[in-house]
Amino acid sequence: MIVVYSRGFEKRYPTNPVENPDRVRLTAQELSGYEFFEPAPASQEEIASVHTSGHIERVRMRGLYGAAALAAGGAVAAARIALREPAFGLIRPPGHHASSDHSWGMCFFNNIAVAVKAIRPHVRRVLILDIDLHFGDGTVSIFRWDPDVSVVNIGAIDINFDYINLDSIGYIEQVKNALEFHEYDIIGVSAGFDTYRLDWGGMLDIDDYRKIGSLIRDASEERCGGRRFAVLEGGYHQDLRYCIRSFVSGFE
Ligand SMILES: [Zn+2]
Repeated sequence: MIVVYSRGFEKRYPTNPVENPDRVRLTAQELSGYEFFEPAPASQEEIASVHTSGHIERVRMRGLYGAAALAAGGAVAAARIALREPAFGLIRPPGHHASSDHSWGMCFFNNIAVAVKAIRPHVRRVLILDIDLHFGDGTVSIFRWDPDVSVVNIGAIDINFDYINLDSIGYIEQVKNALEFHEYDIIGVSAGFDTYRLDWGGMLDIDDYRKIGSLIRDASEERCGGRRFAVLEGGYHQDLRYCIRSFVSGFE
């Protein structure tokens, strides 16, 4: 199990103040027992495999290109490592609200989409499991015509957000179903932690993240040679580092 991380993720850039460097800085300390890998920024070609030149230019004009390209590069590294062993991309900014020509919600480039495109020569069918509180509209939009990439948003099944009546048991049941009823050669997790009990979503306990991580581990070991990676999306409570540590302890 490799943690993909760069001190570059601790840089400040113009964004919502809740998406701050401590999210990853303190988590990196928490995960210090794991082996770390330092990623390079995603290349222009890798970013252009997902995003239009207009969108890339707008990100550049806002002074966000360096931060966004490094996060995408972290996701690419996690996906490449996952071809031989599991990896967790401890990256920021997040990416799942970035579609090819537009982004919002503290996202600029769609990290997991850039990563999936980069490994497509090596794997055919991809399951993207989005466990962030929010619907990953960018990722869904990027892969909507791709029959080999399934994108499943847990909890937020559709854009109408039918989350209100769900509890943690129902949530974990949706994870099981997603893993059981899709075909895949690798699993990529958009790992947001804002569904945490004390975060905006107010539902999952720290130990629920371990359960979710271990369900994904077991399914990947059984179904796709153990190929699995996760990249950080949202999660804004100060306990984020404990939620991530718990997830990784099940996922590794
Ligand atoms: Zn979120």
